[in-house]
Amino acid sequence: MERTFIAIKPDGVQRGLISEIITRFERKGFKLVGLKIMVPSKGFAQQHYHGAKERPFFNGLCDFISSGPVVAMVWEGEGVIRYGRKLIGATDPKKSEPGTIRGDLAVVVARNIIHGSDGPETAKDEISLWFKPEELV
Ligand code: ATP
Ligand code: MG
Repeated sequence: MERTFIAIKPDGVQRGLISEIITRFERKGFKLVGLKIMVPSKGFAQQHYHGAKERPFFNGLCDFISSGPVVAMVWEGEGVIRYGRKLIGATDPKKSEPGTIRGDLAVVVARNIIHGSDGPETAKDEISLWFKPEELV
């Protein structure tokens, strides 16, 4: 069954949005198969976002991701990679539709509260970066 990697970023955790975000994925019908909370090192954040290393915001992004607790999750379900991105909304919360997580709960692109894998390859890579196989049910 299809799986994706979802992370609640330090701003989402700090703002008390963990249960709100988990609820939205659960109510849609997706299944939570992995869950942990951790403070990633900067090196770990750089690995996670290696696809963005040429972007001007890369350093600030990695500083931010390693600045506090992140809730790392693996969600399972038919079409969960694509539909998870739909639940999350556009990268810039000012362009995210109301009804999406970022559209309802965030304003600023650098504080957009949640990450979701953008395709099957990144989902596979990110799941194996954040979780050992035995940590998934
Ligand atoms: P994510 O990978 O976090 O799920 P995304 O796939 O919607 O987000 P990406 O293009 O992969 O968007 O950008 C990764 C992250 O970098 C964004 O979620 C956001 O936090 C940050 N980011 C993107 N664009 C900017 C920007 N112009 N300024 C600051 N931060 C940005
Ligand atoms: Mg991305």
